Amino acid sequence: MGCRSGALAVSVFESLVGQDHVVSVLKAAASDAALVPAGPMMTHAWLFIGPPGSGRSNAAIAFGAALVCPNGGCGMCEDCLAVLGGGHPDVEVVRPEGLSYKTEEARSLVARSDMAPTRGRWHVIVMEDADRLTESANNVLLKSIEEPASRTVWLLCAPSVEDLLPTVRSRCQVVGLRTPATDAVSTFLQQQGVDAGTAAFAARASMGHIGRARALATIESVRNRRHDVLIMMRDLSDLASCMAAAGNIVAAAKADAEALLAERDDTEKADMLLALGAGAEGKGVKRVTKSALKDLEDRQNARRSRTVRDELDRVLVDLLAWFRDVLVLQHEAPVELVNEEMRPDLARMADETHAADTLLRIGAIRDARQALSMNVAPQLAMEAMVVKLRAPRLAGR
Ligand SMILES: [Zn+2]
Repeated sequence: MGCRSGALAVSVFESLVGQDHVVSVLKAAASDAALVPAGPMMTHAWLFIGPPGSGRSNAAIAFGAALVCPNGGCGMCEDCLAVLGGGHPDVEVVRPEGLSYKTEEARSLVARSDMAPTRGRWHVIVMEDADRLTESANNVLLKSIEEPASRTVWLLCAPSVEDLLPTVRSRCQVVGLRTPATDAVSTFLQQQGVDAGTAAFAARASMGHIGRARALATIESVRNRRHDVLIMMRDLSDLASCMAAAGNIVAAAKADAEALLAERDDTEKADMLLALGAGAEGKGVKRVTKSALKDLEDRQNARRSRTVRDELDRVLVDLLAWFRDVLVLQHEAPVELVNEEMRPDLARMADETHAADTLLRIGAIRDARQALSMNVAPQLAMEAMVVKLRAPRLAGR
């Protein structure tokens, strides 16, 4: 399948919302990568940085597609489609199996990285959440990034350059993504078939987080849960309601994680059963299938607890935006509200509470995010936070 030409031509880079400055660099590198020998813009190790949701792993995957596509990332050929669908033999996307990459994972990755590409010029490894490399995993990786196999390309993704050891980051060409503007996110959602009103809401509510914007725009239950959590902030009347609210926040994060993961888990299981030849007879086959499935389930469970934490952090970001909106109203600041559609509730809270307390509440949410990042049990962190949200001065910060 070839590339369509002229005005109809699309590109794998079109899904990168509000990142034009990066797209031109990646396109130039991809065309240099097609030269023999590769031109000066092409290097073997790249680091994609950007705030959560800015699309750093999408950018890395798009670049991976451009490297293996005969047309520089047309978005339509067999290679592009395979990369975007997660099934290209030469473009591997890795995520940590648990909360961090273990040394063993890094070792087996490094071993695989030495393999020559099977179809094209480059063997690409996209490493999501490279900030979750343990120090020893970092060191295992370092050798491979310093002296990569001649046709291997590493694409690491992390929130910022500070998240990687200096030894690794100094070997990488850095690609910096920005939080996309609300308008850019809204336009993108509309191009995906979302109506203008929902797109505008989701773009605002997600604060530039593309994945969150897409989930809010397309999954009604995610939208409803977000609303329910925010509305709870009005009704923290006594300790019992605080404990209930903490439980509801954790439950909402779990349900959001479930909505994001369910489809992926099922696809993986079906793929594995297919690969193992499910239905084949014989005790040996059954045993192998069983242990492989157990393995997959363990990995999926580890990913689940990590995703719940990510979603919980996202709920906290929603709460931060809620109290930020309250503060905006209390100061009559001339800026747009994140939660415009809930203006009456926000206005009431702004009237009934003091700005100094709003600041304490914002501090309580920040503390909770910090606690979660230090692995405090989610329920405990939420209870401590909600109690402070109810009575910020009593909590004695
Ligand atoms: Zn292509």
